[in-house]
Amino acid sequence: MVGTGILKGMAVTARNFVGSYFEKERLITVQYPEERSPLPENYRNFPILIYDTDDAEAGLRCVACKICEKECPPQCIYIVKSEDKKPDYMGKPQFYPAVFDIDISVCMSCQICVEVCPFEAIKMDKVFELSTRERFDALLQRKDELSKSNTYYHNVHPIEAAEVDAKLAEAAAKKKPAAPAAQSPAVTSPKPSPT
Ligand code: SF4
Ligand code: SF4
Repeated sequence: MVGTGILKGMAVTARNFVGSYFEKERLITVQYPEERSPLPENYRNFPILIYDTDDAEAGLRCVACKICEKECPPQCIYIVKSEDKKPDYMGKPQFYPAVFDIDISVCMSCQICVEVCPFEAIKMDKVFELSTRERFDALLQRKDELSKSNTYYHNVHPIEAAEVDAKLAEAAAKKKPAAPAAQSPAVTSPKPSPT
C-alpha cells in the first residue's frame, strides 16, 4: 500500500521519542557544554607539533624539512628553518623550525601535512572550541601554541600514538650499530689419541 513506509518510519520516530523519556540510551543528545560526548579516536581538527620528553624545544620532532609547508593545499603553514643546529633530546644536532605558524582560519583539516611528514612530528588535535572574535591574528597559531607533548598525543589518539611509538622504536633499533658478534670459541685441533 502506498505510504506504508512513511507510517512505519513515523512509528519508529514516535517509539524513540516516547522511549527517550524512559530509557537513557535512546537519548542521543547531551546538555553541551556541561555534558560532552566522547570523541572517537579518529576525530580530527587542526594540526599540532609533537615533542618528546618534557622539553618542548629540544624534544620537538620537527626538523623544519618544510615538506608539509609545500604540500598543504591551502598553503596555511609557514616555516622558517633555523640557521644553526641544536642537539635534540637524543643529543643529535638537528635543524629546527625557528618559526612554525599555522593559520587555522584557512586550514581545512585535510591531514595531508600529517601524511607527508617523515618524522611523525605533526599530528591532528581534537580541540574544536577555538572560535574567537578576531578573524586574523587570533587564529594564527604559533610554534609554542602548536607544540604538544607525546603524552598529550597519547591522551587524544591513544591507539594511533602507541602505533607511532612502536614505529619510532623499531626505526631507532634499526639505526643502532650492531653489537659486536660474540667471539666464536677457538677451534682446537683434536689431541692425538694415545696409541
Ligand atoms: S590539515 Fe591540511 S590544510 Fe590544515 S595545515 Fe595540514 S595540510 Fe594544511
Ligand atoms: S612537521 Fe614534519 S614535514 Fe613539516 S617541517 Fe616538520 S618535520 Fe618536516
